[in-house]
Order: sequence, then C-alpha cells, then structure tokens
Amino acid sequence: MSIADNIRSLKNETDTIKVQLIAVSKTKPAEEIKEAYDAGQRLFGENMVQELTDKYENLPKDIKWHFIGHLQTNKVKYIAPIISMIQSVDSLKLLQEIDKHAQKNNRVIDCLLQAYIADEETKYGLGFDQIIELLRSEEYAGLSNVRIRGLMGIATNTDNEKQIKEEFYELKTFFDGIKQTYFRQDPLFDVLSMGMSSDYKIAIEQGSNMVRLGSTIFGQRVIKHWKNN
Ligand SMILES: *Cc1c(COP(=O)(O)O)cnc(C)c1O
Repeated sequence: MSIADNIRSLKNETDTIKVQLIAVSKTKPAEEIKEAYDAGQRLFGENMVQELTDKYENLPKDIKWHFIGHLQTNKVKYIAPIISMIQSVDSLKLLQEIDKHAQKNNRVIDCLLQAYIADEETKYGLGFDQIIELLRSEEYAGLSNVRIRGLMGIATNTDNEKQIKEEFYELKTFFDGIKQTYFRQDPLFDVLSMGMSSDYKIAIEQGSNMVRLGSTIFGQRVIKHWKNN
C-alpha cells in the first residue's frame, strides 16, 4: 500500500471513533509528507528541532506540527513561533521556558505532559507523583502562555501485550483522576496521546484519543539523515 492508501485507511479507522491521528514523519523527506498531506493528513509529529523547522519552511503552512521528542530548553525558541502542540513536556523548567517564548511570540502554546509509564530507563517523562507536584506548584500557577491539554505516554517496547495493556490502563486511570481533580472546569484538558505503530490498537482499547503512527504510514525508518534520503 502507498502512503496515501495508508493515510486514507487509518484516517477512516480513527475518525469514526474520534481518535486523532498524528503522522510521525521524523527522518522522512518532504515528498513523502506531501503525499500524506495530499491524502488529507494535516497533523504531523517530529522529534528533532532543526528537522522540524526545515520541514515547516518547505511544506504547506496549514500543517499542524506536533513536537514529540525530548526538547532541550535552549531550543524552545526555534519552534515556539510555529509549533501546534508540544507533547513531550518532561519538566517544569521546560514548561517555564515554553511559556517564556510563547509570550514573546504573543501566543499560547498547547502542551501535553509526558508521563513515564514504561519499564525502561531510556525513556523520558515525569512520574505520576511529579505530574501532581507540577500541577500544584506556584510556578505552574503563574504561567499564562502555556495550556496543558492532556498527557502523553510511551509504553514499554515489548511483545508482552498484557504489560502494554496495563501501562496504558494505568495512564488512562491517572488521566481521568487528574482531569477530575485539576481540570474539572477546563474542557480543553481532553487529550490522551498514547499508542504507536506496534501498540496503537491496545492503546485505543484502553482509552487513547490520539495515536502517533510512523512506520505504519511511511514504512520502516532507515537510519540516515532525512535530507539525504
Ligand atoms: C517515533 C515515534 C513514534 C512513532 O513510532 P512508530 O513505531 O514508527 O509508529 C511515536 N511516538 C514517539 C514519541 C516517537 O518518537
């Protein structure tokens, strides 16, 4: 199947159940992104700042770019004017930096807090206790140019479906609790981003409403620089 076919069938599958589809285009060249765009896809995910800003310059301006990788505070300024959502907020310090640059750009930036749910030390993210601490902090209360729209999580990279299911279940339960406690008056806290190519069906069963798919759409990623593809 072509990229366009993949987009059409995945959009069909997700639109009917109100799950948002993020096409993860990291390492993929502009032509392939354009093919997905022409098939109707508008939400794309990237995890490198330079790659994102280059693609932004070269692709249609109605694309909504989501940042999904670990973001260094000193690079926030490059994406602050153009980013639609930062899904990978993993510290208060980063959130403060995003707020600062959002303010400079006279905008409010939508963010997700990245929750650490995997059984792997290599993954970034905040523990559930740290998320609560952040939401209760005075520093967070003082921020005016970031809007926390929900949570994002990456499950353990394993074949053990039971484990993946439990991790997503825990995140969904935590999400519901946080929404009740800290965002009761805020209908915009509504995004639970969980599920990648290998586990998105389990994620949707467990209550995800945003999936981030790369290889299912564009094929396997080969490890070379996107500009030289
Ligand atoms: C790369 C990536 C994805 C997509 O991975 P696939 O397995 O290709 O679907 C999703 N989420 C994050 C955070 C990623 O870095």
